[in-house]
Amino acid sequence: MTSQQAVRIDGKAIAQNLRDQLAKSVETLQKDHDITPALAVVLVGADPASEVYVRAKGKQTQEIGMKSLEFKLPADTPEQDVLDLVEKLNAADSVNGILVQFPVPDHISQQKIIELISPDKDVDGLHPMNAGKLAAGVEGLVSCTPLGCVMLAKAQLGDLSGLNAVIIGRSNLVGKPVAQLLLKENCTVTICHSRSKDIDQICARADILVAAVGRPNMVKASWVKAGACVIDVGINRVAQASGKDKLVGDVDAEQVREVAGSLSPVPGGVGPMTIACLLHNTLQATCLQNDILMPKL
Ligand code: NAP
Repeated sequence: MTSQQAVRIDGKAIAQNLRDQLAKSVETLQKDHDITPALAVVLVGADPASEVYVRAKGKQTQEIGMKSLEFKLPADTPEQDVLDLVEKLNAADSVNGILVQFPVPDHISQQKIIELISPDKDVDGLHPMNAGKLAAGVEGLVSCTPLGCVMLAKAQLGDLSGLNAVIIGRSNLVGKPVAQLLLKENCTVTICHSRSKDIDQICARADILVAAVGRPNMVKASWVKAGACVIDVGINRVAQASGKDKLVGDVDAEQVREVAGSLSPVPGGVGPMTIACLLHNTLQATCLQNDILMPKL
């Protein structure tokens, strides 16, 4: 019997499709309401990976016709100055979405920033008000990576209703919101974490398995049910003999693609969806602020 390889869930293509739809909605918003959504991104310090993300966000924001505002502050900027900037952006009518690129330097409290950003401009969906709305099943802004994970699963499987979903990881950034979103899609949801017992056996019952841990190649073929849809959120840099780092996920893709029905690759899976969902949230925030119905995408 020949084994069939898992379908590669093409996050790049799905993200491009979402951006194309967003570009059309932005055009309509400009035509019908004379509004151009504006996203403000704040970067404190010069972390190379963060600089790459911020550049990509700015470029993609402009490509779909939105305004991109960048605020680059030196690493030693006092916490109060960053908080003052957030307050200014909260008050600015010309700004619809605010994102502070994390991590911020150690002397600045990430939590203070999360709680200060106005919930209706919180395009990262991390404010407790938006996290609470998600938990309550009320419309709000949902954190970008989890939104991207669920869009990938839906693009692959269609209706998720009744499926067993297992999420490894319970962070506020990824694990918990993914679980809430999958519950909203009528999945039966189990969350695993570092204290969970027999994770491999729990995962082996999943129709949808989401790995959001930060441990390279942790999920092995024996953890995966035949035909399952596997979404790999992990981004891990692993040193190679050549001296160059390689990007790998939390899933041992080489093994798992022999068992799974579909698998999102790293890179090229969840990663591209995260920025596309940030733009989705910027459009949603603009619509919310102007009392306009968010277009169906
Ligand atoms: P995090 O805050 O460090 O959370 C990791 C979670 O994994 C925690 O809930 C932890 O459990 C759990 N965990 C750790 N070791 C475990 C083990 N041996 N068995 C089971 N669970 C274990 O990380 P995160 O922010 O959620 O990110 C997770 C991964 O996704 C990282 O690789 C990150 O780089 C990546 N990521 C990717 C994107 C993207 O755009 N593609 C965006 C965000 C994050 P406890 O709660 O018990 O400690």
